[in-house]
Amino acid sequence: MNVQAIASLPDKINQIRLLTAEIINKEILPNENTLWRWRRDGTVSEKEKASARKLREDIKEKVKQAGLWAPHLPEDYGGCGLNFLEHAYMNEVLAYAVGAASLFGVVAPNSGNQKILLKYGTEEQRKKWLVPLTEGTMQSGFSMTEPDNAGSDPRSIKTTARREGDEWVINGHKWFTSNGISADFLIVMCRTDDPTGPADRNGKMTQIIVPTDTPGVNVIRGIEVWGRTSDHAEIIYDDVRVPAENQLGQTGSGHQAAQDRLGAGRVYHCMNSVGQMWRAFDLMVERAATREVHGGLLQDKQFVQGFIADSYIDIQTSRLMTIHCAEQMESGADARTEISALKIYVPEAYSRVVDRAIQVWGAAGVTGDLPLVGMYQGARTLRLADGPDEVHKILIAKNVMKQHFAGGSWDFGN
Ligand SMILES: Cc1cc2nc3c(=O)[nH]c(=O)nc-3n(C[C@H](O)[C@H](O)[C@H](O)COP(=O)(O)OP(=O)(O)OC[C@H]3O[C@@H](n4cnc5c(N)ncnc54)[C@H](O)[C@@H]3O)c2cc1C
Repeated sequence: MNVQAIASLPDKINQIRLLTAEIINKEILPNENTLWRWRRDGTVSEKEKASARKLREDIKEKVKQAGLWAPHLPEDYGGCGLNFLEHAYMNEVLAYAVGAASLFGVVAPNSGNQKILLKYGTEEQRKKWLVPLTEGTMQSGFSMTEPDNAGSDPRSIKTTARREGDEWVINGHKWFTSNGISADFLIVMCRTDDPTGPADRNGKMTQIIVPTDTPGVNVIRGIEVWGRTSDHAEIIYDDVRVPAENQLGQTGSGHQAAQDRLGAGRVYHCMNSVGQMWRAFDLMVERAATREVHGGLLQDKQFVQGFIADSYIDIQTSRLMTIHCAEQMESGADARTEISALKIYVPEAYSRVVDRAIQVWGAAGVTGDLPLVGMYQGARTLRLADGPDEVHKILIAKNVMKQHFAGGSWDFGN
């Protein structure tokens, strides 16, 4: 990966980007197949798995020594304390290598849960649940979506939490709880119609921490996704009792906490997409430069030149939108319109770039020898996860019209 200092950026961010690129180029890309092959190849021996595990631990140690561990968390909680914008600039570099984020201590959905525990958790909850996530001794999931209700409208959820003495009693049916099978605890979105709680409809939701070994937490299955069993779990909560102190934040703060989590999460997804598009682009260029067809190199065919130019434009626009949005978030401005625009545009652009890279590589493009298949599936999935495109389009239009009726046209400079 070719990463050079960017003249307009402070030295600190440039240094982080260069250090990250060094680890990606020297430690991760040359070992990519060894590091992750066990995930898709059932023939990998125990010995090979152990040596891959050791390699991953060695790389993590190097990341920590370079001061790059857990960029999304403050130093007090084991992270390297980057702000949102710094993280955006770092992330486009680390996402170049598929799977590298976990070697830098950023693993979804743990990372989103860490941010929520940081913002809404008590000191006690942070010690009990956040610190072990950062140390890698626990796993977690976020359990909001339900099979029988529209995930696009999170206020429609039916899972309830009823207060009995010092306990919450939870009943409901969730699915697509990522990491749900290996999780030690889940943050569960519940409807808590507490008569003394807030009355508005957003105020009916509360997030509650549920250890997965609590009686009544029934993991039904890992749902098959894109033809493979996954760790996205279907879970039935059947009279699950947890102490009242497992409630995260105030009663009724669950909707806001989910918005906080998803807002930042959407930008992180787009930062990842930019890094992965960059990789797909480099792969496409490499193949175009060397593959001969019909008496000439692919790079000299106008169809392929069109692929390269269109992909260049897709990446530049996606990257600039992502940086702009991260700047807005960093400045504390209301970035909801930018986040929605980004969440629609970037996954689509990512799909287009990967699709072209696959086309240029021909049959090799759809094999496990290249990371393009996983990228293609990931890009497509992103168009519906964390809010499908349609919902974000509605939000953009509403915000623009609101601004219009408030007497101002949209200010694209801010
Ligand atoms: C790989 C993966 C991982 C996930 N991980 C998690 C997780 O960890 N935790 C969790 O809680 N959830 C998770 N989800 C669930 C995800 O957030 C939901 O799938 C998403 O919010 C959409 O909800 P839904 O599937 O119920 O679709 P629905 O809400 O039923 O929507 C279906 C379709 O209807 C259309 N639509 C929706 N609203 C409108 C509208 N107003 N106008 C026009 N069209 C509309 C859209 O095209 C949408 O795709 C995950 C999903 C995937 C695929």
